[in-house]
Amino acid sequence: MDTVECVVIGAGVIGLAVARELALAGHEVLILEALERFGTQTSAHNSEVIHAGLYYPPGSLKARLCVQGKEWLYRYCAERGIAHRRLGKLLVACAGSELPALASYAERAAANGVPLRPLAAADIRRLEPAVRAVAGLYSESTGILDSHGLMLALLGDAEGAGATLVTHTPVVAGQVARDGIVLRTGGAQPFGLRCHRLVNAAGLRAQELARSLAGFPPELVPPTFYAKGHYFTLGGRAPFRHLVYPMPDHAGLGIHVTLDLGGQCKFGPDVSGWPSVPDYGFEPGLEAKFYRAIRRYYPALPDGSLQPGYTGIRPKVTGPAEAAGDFILQGPAEHGVAGLVHLFGIESPGLTASLAIARQVMEFIR
Ligand SMILES: Cc1cc2nc3c(=O)[nH]c(=O)nc-3n(C[C@H](O)[C@H](O)[C@H](O)COP(=O)(O)OP(=O)(O)OC[C@H]3O[C@@H](n4cnc5c(N)ncnc54)[C@H](O)[C@@H]3O)c2cc1C
Repeated sequence: MDTVECVVIGAGVIGLAVARELALAGHEVLILEALERFGTQTSAHNSEVIHAGLYYPPGSLKARLCVQGKEWLYRYCAERGIAHRRLGKLLVACAGSELPALASYAERAAANGVPLRPLAAADIRRLEPAVRAVAGLYSESTGILDSHGLMLALLGDAEGAGATLVTHTPVVAGQVARDGIVLRTGGAQPFGLRCHRLVNAAGLRAQELARSLAGFPPELVPPTFYAKGHYFTLGGRAPFRHLVYPMPDHAGLGIHVTLDLGGQCKFGPDVSGWPSVPDYGFEPGLEAKFYRAIRRYYPALPDGSLQPGYTGIRPKVTGPAEAAGDFILQGPAEHGVAGLVHLFGIESPGLTASLAIARQVMEFIR
């Protein structure tokens, strides 16, 4: 059986960022990806926003890794010529009853070291004439990026430093042994492999994969929940110059405005279901909910202007009735298996935090 020093399972933005970090540090790295191409799952079904870090509880991994990752990501995009724009974002309260929540986000942002500027209704009208709101916050460090360009650059760096990506290769089982971790792959040409360091960056499948490792304590694997979100696109010229977010709802950030690098405007994602298996199908009948939510802050949204876009699935560790969970980065100190790191619940802001998560994984592995 062949032995490889480090295996990274999953070639989404997180697995690629981790592989790059490991390879640049001189490790031998093999990336195993189940599908035909890298970066086609959650990393290709998101909003492509570089988040500022204003929502997350101070001291949480989401707060720390988002704020750190954001700075590194802007620098990396600039150095590597990855398309991005620091557009800025408005977080808006549409009614007086939302002002306490707005104030609480201002406090969280201050605690997380995120610069924000308070906005009165007139400021909001000046910045975004189509938006109606009673007050808001302006985040100048929020932006957008080309997530596929980011993944290409990460893979290029990793391969340039000697890493190898093997696609069509799902890891189907494994065993924690005394002399490393043994993996078994499926696909057309199954094989076995031993490694000394293993990073589970399998995204939506990370918990399933962890449970398939014989010798790993199953009680340490968190539960899995999938929260599905839909996007609708707006035809024609975007009536906004910034990203515009209403107050977050329970499991998501509220149906917000995102602009892509081509200038197209999209709204979403909502939270419209908790499927038991990942399923990217677009549910019918969501238009009325979207028009209602968007018209709270953009009353001039014309009838018939929304077109079904795409969906994304949030890999969550907490269910619909629970408070939002944090990222779970489990290293040897947590589970006692040398060389093994599991990454669970890497939902938003995982894209923004990707470089910081990779650096954290390196710390565990060292
Ligand atoms: C709707 C939505 C909007 C979002 N918007 C933003 C945003 O604007 N900004 C932001 O910062 N973050 C955002 N996020 C979060 C961000 O997209 C994710 O945190 C990030 O893409 C997760 O990347 P990943 O590599 O962990 O997962 P993935 O991209 O899903 O990659 C995991 C990979 O592992 C592979 N795999 C799975 N099982 C196996 C196996 N057994 N063997 C081999 N390979 C396997 C999969 O095929 C896949 O390629 C959003 C997420 C969602 C769902």
